[in-house]
Amino acid sequence: MSFSSLGLSEQLVRATTDQGYEIPSPIQLQAIPAVLSGKDVMAAAQTGTGKTAGFTLPLLQRLAENPRTGKGPRVLILAPTRELAAQVHDSVNLYSKYVPTKAAVVFGGVKINPQMMKLRKGVDVLVATPGRLMDLYQQNAVRFNEVEILVLDEADRMLDMGFIRDIRKILDLLPAKRQNLLFSATFSGEIRALAQGLLNNPVQIDVAVRNTTAESVKQSVYSVDQSQKTALLSKLVRDNSWEQVLVFTRTKHGANRLTQKLEKDGITAAAIHGNKSQGARTRALADFKQGQVRVLVATDIAARGLDIKQLPQVVNFELPNVPEDYVHRIGRTGRAGESGHALSLVSADELKMLVGIEKLIKKQLPRKEVEGFEPTNNLALKPKAKADPSKARNRSGGNGNGRPGGKPRSFGDKPGGRSGGRSQGGNGQRGRSSQSQDA
Ligand code: AMP
Repeated sequence: MSFSSLGLSEQLVRATTDQGYEIPSPIQLQAIPAVLSGKDVMAAAQTGTGKTAGFTLPLLQRLAENPRTGKGPRVLILAPTRELAAQVHDSVNLYSKYVPTKAAVVFGGVKINPQMMKLRKGVDVLVATPGRLMDLYQQNAVRFNEVEILVLDEADRMLDMGFIRDIRKILDLLPAKRQNLLFSATFSGEIRALAQGLLNNPVQIDVAVRNTTAESVKQSVYSVDQSQKTALLSKLVRDNSWEQVLVFTRTKHGANRLTQKLEKDGITAAAIHGNKSQGARTRALADFKQGQVRVLVATDIAARGLDIKQLPQVVNFELPNVPEDYVHRIGRTGRAGESGHALSLVSADELKMLVGIEKLIKKQLPRKEVEGFEPTNNLALKPKAKADPSKARNRSGGNGNGRPGGKPRSFGDKPGGRSGGRSQGGNGQRGRSSQSQDA
């Protein structure tokens, strides 16, 4: 099956060829014809599956088939984070190389005036985070009367981040007659409620197997004392000559501290989290992608949606509190058919978290030790004390996290080489302003 056989125009196919794509990914196989047909779509898919091209290519074709002269936007794509919005915008630009579509991106954390000026000139496809979009609307910088297609990308993340009110306000302002596309890694009750009010007889697509980790990602656990983690990480980076490694910490403070220690140790590192200015975040990511920074230290929220091609190595400096975040984190490696390695540095006090993760992924991860870094307390296979089973229980259990069809379905040959999902955010609802605090 090729892109052209899915009904895409020669210009759009040429743009995919330029990117080196040979065959459509499973989500693209399903989403492209569905979007071209004008139907609403509800898709269970994450970053890494090729979903962006899955919705962008056909919507560009729909725009090209029916040119308009207004100022737009004709397509509105809402995304949870600045980084994801910027990436989607980059993708729209790549895929629209040979069609006369104008795209723009707006998000918070940067000056609003240049965004207002850009919108004034007219735009076909607008990618936005919900908060900034509402600010722009309230300042009369954008109108929604020409919107024909709405895309909610990573809808579960948007709800996690407390954007539901802004989203509902935006929905109320859109023309009633429009095509709606909803992409989400997980389908909690809240997402289903949103989908029910939004989607009209949607085509349902499911390409991710819930809470499993991709075969292409090799996972290891190194048992080590908390106090020795930085030294061990430095050693691993050096001994293995890792040139590009994404490291996760639980807190922004921890990310800063680790970055400073690595730098002191002569390893180039940068932190990416919500306390950093947008400029600093963009720079850190660019430096990392270009190989000028060996270690990118990130918190979970900041890392969402980051698409860094062929990332060979991910390290959990600390395990996440929410087991599903582990699946999400290690999905940063081994993507697009590449093999990857996810390594977790686990201290004895994190055993419960580790066991929670193993329950979720239905796999026990072998514990290893590194000579010279043997922990004072060995990492057992299971907590010794009588553990409260409700606490270690897989938080995505039950019905709240089902896929659109209820049962998870696999689509065999996954080019993204990854899958997984996350329950409806262990983080609860957060206000918009907290995005910058937590991300
Ligand atoms: P996404 O899930 O949209 O974030 O895409 C993940 C990555 O897959 C991006 O780096 C895309 O450039 C890449 N990609 C998308 N579609 C294809 C395809 N059909 N073949 C190979 N790579 C692709």
